Amino acid sequence: MATVVTAYRFALDPSPAQERALRSHAGASRFAWNWALGRCGERYAAERKWYSGAELHKLWNTAKKADPALAWWGENSKCAYQEAFRDLDRALRDFTKSRKGQRKGRRLGFPRVKKKGRCRDSFRLTGAIGCAGSTVTLPRLGAIRTHKDTGKLAARTAAGTARILSATVSRTAQRWFVSFTVAARRDSPQVHVRPGTAIGVDLGVKTLLTGVDDAGRVTAVAGSRPLSAALRRLRRASRACSRKQPGSARRRKAAARLARLHARVADVRADALHKATSALAARYETVVVEDLNVTGMISSKKLARAVSDQGFGQARRMLAYKTQRNGGTLLVADRWFPSSKLCSACGWRKPSLTLAERTFACGQCGHTDDRDVNAARNLLHLAASGADSQNACRAAVRPGNAGQAALKQEPGTAHAGQTGTATPQGTAAA
Ligand SMILES: [Zn+2]
Repeated sequence: MATVVTAYRFALDPSPAQERALRSHAGASRFAWNWALGRCGERYAAERKWYSGAELHKLWNTAKKADPALAWWGENSKCAYQEAFRDLDRALRDFTKSRKGQRKGRRLGFPRVKKKGRCRDSFRLTGAIGCAGSTVTLPRLGAIRTHKDTGKLAARTAAGTARILSATVSRTAQRWFVSFTVAARRDSPQVHVRPGTAIGVDLGVKTLLTGVDDAGRVTAVAGSRPLSAALRRLRRASRACSRKQPGSARRRKAAARLARLHARVADVRADALHKATSALAARYETVVVEDLNVTGMISSKKLARAVSDQGFGQARRMLAYKTQRNGGTLLVADRWFPSSKLCSACGWRKPSLTLAERTFACGQCGHTDDRDVNAARNLLHLAASGADSQNACRAAVRPGNAGQAALKQEPGTAHAGQTGTATPQGTAAA
């Protein structure tokens, strides 16, 4: 039996009064962050250190009673302030770690002041949170209607197999969402129903995913028609937006439309990904995907890239918990494993491959393959070495890719009964 932390997200349908309350809470959270950032700045100037989240909470409790200008605090749940202090605490610690080189990923800047309209409207609540039917109940805000039924989560919390830890409310375009962080107990099956099966999966934009399994079967999940239509509209809206004068009313309108379309694409994509990843996790014991430097890619200017990057991270997260739920394993190839550049037949490495080249042609053995299928085959080959790596507790290297192939097991995807840590990332022996 394992406990996994998952998220449940629902679109909200608030009444006008509730919507005002949501905006007020988002404002309170922003205010608390900025207020705390100010206090931390003062202390840093004097003592070279910051306040912790708990200290900020104490300071706030004194200040809110003493300062008449803060008398409005009681209009919002006290959690909204408290959680903002916790966030700032974490941001400051992450900043310090990043500075010292103790944190992976891109370098973090110092936490900034949040300006209204310039940052995402969001806040987090803890405490008396629940859901039933088509409503969610949040502290202070009460029962808010949702667009979809929350029955599945409600049943699980009622049965005691899931517990809601917190609720993050945020606004995307004009729509409000609540995302519950849930600790769920899973009676994960010890073994997969189809032991020994494996599939390599290449994630893409137009073709959501291309897989090659151990029997050589190729599966391609094309992005659905609504997705390509939404992507087309998104591209057009993006161009239209950039043509408008910055700061103009037209620009603002175009930006709002663009944000709505982004949200729509994300929705459609998430739906399609859910279906596809559920099917994969049910059919295959081992699923191998590429590791993508998602934080590094966000800065990419190309729209298709930006959209797909969100999808990659999402697909990975879905596969991680769904494989576990089915008693399988998700293996993640090393970030530098050149899955699309290697010949899946002989292991020859193509010196360069542009995104426009849709067919892989080997310069050594003459093998040709669809680009994505070739990449998926290479990932599948890793599954074999991955099985070794799990038993031997270190990643193996596939012959022919000197110093390239290393595998890691996605944290949290260990089989039930094992510890949830990743197997040590392999030293790439040449
Ligand atoms: Zn070849």
